Amino acid sequence: MENRTLRVFKTMSYREKPNSEELAFGRTFTDHMFVMDYSDAEGWHDAKIVPYEPLKIDPAAMVFHYGQSVFEGLKAYLNPQGEPLLFRPRKNIARLNRSNERLCIPTLDEDFLLHALKQLIYIEKEWIPKADGTSLYIRPMIISTEPFLGVAPSKEYKLVIILSPVGAYYKEGINPIKIAVENDFVRAVRGGTGEAKTGGNYASSLKAQEVAGKEGYSQVLWLDGVEKRYIEEVGSMNVFFKIGDEVVTPELNGSILSGITRSSVIQLLKHWGISVRESKITIDELYQEYQKGNVEEVFGSGTAAVISPIGQLDWNDHKMFFNNGQTGKLSKELYETLTGIQYGRLNDPFNWIEKVATQQTMNKVG
Ligand SMILES: *Cc1c(COP(=O)(O)O)cnc(C)c1O
Repeated sequence: MENRTLRVFKTMSYREKPNSEELAFGRTFTDHMFVMDYSDAEGWHDAKIVPYEPLKIDPAAMVFHYGQSVFEGLKAYLNPQGEPLLFRPRKNIARLNRSNERLCIPTLDEDFLLHALKQLIYIEKEWIPKADGTSLYIRPMIISTEPFLGVAPSKEYKLVIILSPVGAYYKEGINPIKIAVENDFVRAVRGGTGEAKTGGNYASSLKAQEVAGKEGYSQVLWLDGVEKRYIEEVGSMNVFFKIGDEVVTPELNGSILSGITRSSVIQLLKHWGISVRESKITIDELYQEYQKGNVEEVFGSGTAAVISPIGQLDWNDHKMFFNNGQTGKLSKELYETLTGIQYGRLNDPFNWIEKVATQQTMNKVG
């Protein structure tokens, strides 16, 4: 049975906090981290918040050899009253469990993990930067730790949550990005692990990213791994096309990551009475619509940038330009509304925001 006790060991040496104007993404970490272990005998156990420190792991640990690992990414924001907020954290925890299922990692008690996350954020709340557009990035991850070179699911795991203060994604306003359609490399295939948030998907995407980067592109547009026709994602974001009065996004098919920003965008558009279609869309279809002058806006969605407008999309020799390289009206409205809700500046009609308790309720839940 799972042991749901959460112990807290505070650090003896607090780190210096960076200037909130000069934050680089993912380079600074806070004073504490959350850790929890799994063994077949004890289940998930020994949950604790401890000083941030390197892990000591056997070089035979299975994660180093066969890559059995999963992760998540979400943020804590300060509202105008200075209270920490989380945006749909239960969705991230539920997705972590779905990734676990796919990678044969034992699933977690979702209520307990949310409780632990809130305690960690509470303890580290002074680390949430205050400058406009900044936040505290939350990175939960699970690795297989059993020291064994056999190919099988590990019998031991470690879950860690680390926190990193991050700067405003758009410091000088939103600049639409330039994208290349990727014809050779694929990110994921149906039946593979594309729908799971696992490091392997990222490892396999680096090469395409590197080649496109050298040619002056920010990211690649991924096509399906079989026919190389159907649009899947852009970089590590989901992708949306405003075609006439309708917004189209690739339907979830097992190889596309089910983004929480994606689902929030869909919900908001429906709430605004805008027609949204989740369906297959090929790159040929998009190009045809483009030639007819129907493609008004294109954007990516994800936790890091929230909405990332795409100004140019190159498909072999076909160059497509959207909205004169400017951020479109709808992209802007989505960005303003989502960030407004995340920072507690706008009301939250969908109950997306979870407050982090301001009272410490340590030790036990459930
Ligand atoms: C995490 C991720 C996304 C975006 O998901 P959000 O929950 O919106 O942050 C999209 N695509 C890939 C491949 C991802 O890993």
